[in-house]
Amino acid sequence: MGVLALQGDFREHRRMLRRLGVEAHLVRTPPELDAVDAVILPGGESTTIARLARSSGLWEPLASRLAAGMPAWGTCAGAILLASEAPGLDREPLGQMAMRVRRNAFGRQIDSFEEMLSVQGLAGAPYPAVFIRAPVFEDLGSAVEPLARLPDGRVVACRQKSLLATAFHPELTDDSRLHALFLAMARQALATGAAGPAA
Ligand code: GLN
Repeated sequence: MGVLALQGDFREHRRMLRRLGVEAHLVRTPPELDAVDAVILPGGESTTIARLARSSGLWEPLASRLAAGMPAWGTCAGAILLASEAPGLDREPLGQMAMRVRRNAFGRQIDSFEEMLSVQGLAGAPYPAVFIRAPVFEDLGSAVEPLARLPDGRVVACRQKSLLATAFHPELTDDSRLHALFLAMARQALATGAAGPAA
């Protein structure tokens, strides 16, 4: 399991994976990307991560690995990069998940908040979702399955085959269920060879 480590809260993802017994590889270069089978794109600043991914030569290889079916999970800024449309991003996103991402959907007044969410696929209590200058996911394509919504109906977690997107930050909580879910998704996709093109 790799974690894109150009900017943002990649250390927190690594800490969470460690709790689940998985040692994550930090990905900063094309050879480091070659060495992993699945990747987490962390929260942070999507414009910065995109810029650094270009300057480090990671953007194209990342796009082609994703297009070839590599399992990936984008949290917040990472989810913005996975989308097919991200108005306000200063470049085209990676374009792997058929949805439009509305950046900073909660405005300046409500910069961050926590919401207990019911997430499809997670057993037990509601999930404590931490939102920080978060996006929402709109106009989902038919292959994209919503997994969680805010009380007003807006989609904040979704899945397309072995791609997962969350508008919130599971790496900043104490609840490892979403990391466990993504590990299971990735393992299953890799074991069954189902990691074909996601679109
Ligand atoms: N608002 C940020 C962006 O657009 C994302 C914030 C986050 O990752 N917490 O990139």
